Amino acid sequence: MAFEDNQQLTRIFEEIADFLELQGENIFKVKAYQKAARGLEGLERSVTELYRSGALVSMPGFGKALVEKVGQFVDTGHVELHLQLKSSFPPEILHLMDVPGLGAKKAALLYKELGIGSVDGLEKALREGLVTDIKGFGKKTVDKLLEGIGLLRQGEQRWLLGRVSLLADELLGRLRALPVVQRAEAAGSLRRGKETVGDLDLLVISSAPEQVMEFFAGLGEVIGSGPTKTSIRWEGTFQIDLRCVPAESFGAAMQYFTGSMDHNVALRGRAKRMSCELNEYGLFDALGQCLASETEEEIYAKLGLPWIAPELRESGAELEWENQPERLELSQLQGNLHTHSLWSDGTDTLEQLAEEAQKRGYKYLAVTDHSRSMVVANGLSIERLLAQGEEIARLNRGFGDFRLLWGSEVDILGDGSLDFPEDILARLDFVVAAVHSQFSMSPEAMTERICRGISHPYVDVLAHPTGRKINRRVGYQADWERVYAVAREHGVALEINCSPRRLDLNDKAARRARDCGCLISLGTDAHSLPEFDYLPLGVLQARRAGIEAASLLNSLSWEQLRKRRPHLADV
Ligand SMILES: [Zn+2]
Ligand SMILES: [Zn+2]
Repeated sequence: MAFEDNQQLTRIFEEIADFLELQGENIFKVKAYQKAARGLEGLERSVTELYRSGALVSMPGFGKALVEKVGQFVDTGHVELHLQLKSSFPPEILHLMDVPGLGAKKAALLYKELGIGSVDGLEKALREGLVTDIKGFGKKTVDKLLEGIGLLRQGEQRWLLGRVSLLADELLGRLRALPVVQRAEAAGSLRRGKETVGDLDLLVISSAPEQVMEFFAGLGEVIGSGPTKTSIRWEGTFQIDLRCVPAESFGAAMQYFTGSMDHNVALRGRAKRMSCELNEYGLFDALGQCLASETEEEIYAKLGLPWIAPELRESGAELEWENQPERLELSQLQGNLHTHSLWSDGTDTLEQLAEEAQKRGYKYLAVTDHSRSMVVANGLSIERLLAQGEEIARLNRGFGDFRLLWGSEVDILGDGSLDFPEDILARLDFVVAAVHSQFSMSPEAMTERICRGISHPYVDVLAHPTGRKINRRVGYQADWERVYAVAREHGVALEINCSPRRLDLNDKAARRARDCGCLISLGTDAHSLPEFDYLPLGVLQARRAGIEAASLLNSLSWEQLRKRRPHLADV
């Protein structure tokens, strides 16, 4: 449930954090605003109400200064510091900070030296060689920034799966609420679970198409409109197409508009070889007789195929597979294997995490807070880690079947050693290891580093293996075949990090890792309760990789997970 005041204030706090960073303020001050913003995002009550009732002061992360800012917002709709900061910079400068690889320090320098305050301005300056006199802007940096601008523009055209999927849920909900709508579904690359989506395709069965079109046209800027199809632009950039289709050809339309293009070409080719024609209205024989149209299942069956799950409709090669993989279901997952609590940079207490996990039907939740080198993420010292372990043991005594797993997201340091000593890691229930620093190592050095990292005993998972952030950062380079081989040898699972910004490993890499004999682990990397919603995105990615429950670490019960660490005492 989203509250408008929470959303507004979240945005204000995020912007304050960005402005402060631009000013070169202390990073902990910046983080405090970012953390407060994340906390607000996940609130299940209105912040105005919380402030008025005096309950805000007892919320973690809201010190006196922040509560005062909330007070200003509640009273006036503004935060003074925000207005002040905003007026001292050009209006587009925050967008400039979205350029991957730029960062606040460089952005501040460019603004100070050349007055650059927008992405277009930066691109012009880079191309015209205006930045070369500034320290730190050599050719390599310039090339990287131009690549970053490309990524940013690409991100404006292709939105992240998580974002589109929320938007689709909202729009479908509103369409289904119309009395004249009998059915509404999303097709296209969203339905196929692609990590980014170029435009959204919605299909509707309705007894009064013109009413649906009129309603839909009122939701955004109209690009085109007809009696059964309307296209709108959302937030100035993103195209959404809505089509009304007859009930009797709904399956054919879903098939057609789900794609992929290559899959459909292959399918139409198959129909043709059978002297049939397949289009958005159905499958027809040589005499024009309709053979199937109402459901996708019938169409695939008439073509001599099993129904192919949307996530697998990609190159067309899937038509020739002897067996389709068994489709992974969210309910087959027993738990979530990567989360953060208030102990490091998450926003919620262990109790809150456990409660949320149980609400969602998980049998266990691995709490994997950051290790001591991640100072900016409030990484745990050994003392704090041990104290957290006691707290988790205490909580576990109060649960029935449910278990919190005492874990860590331990840094793989530059030389491949781990951020906690072995005797400490040995005591934990679950360990995910990850690279968080020195991304630009040579591929050889990065391969050695990762392989050494996952060769330590007690590592269960290599988290976000490539370090990519979609539309923001290409991953680091390494010899992945070698990494998979070492992971397999040591029984280390490769993660599909379910965060929509990461989805790392991607579908192709996850398939390859599985084919190399590695287990796959799904973790949301949630830093707040709403981010538990990322798990289905990881399931989609796993389906695209053809991964079945048997290849997932999450299919194991917590007792089975524990048996992987036989040195631990029974509980
Ligand atoms: Zn991480
Ligand atoms: Zn993490």
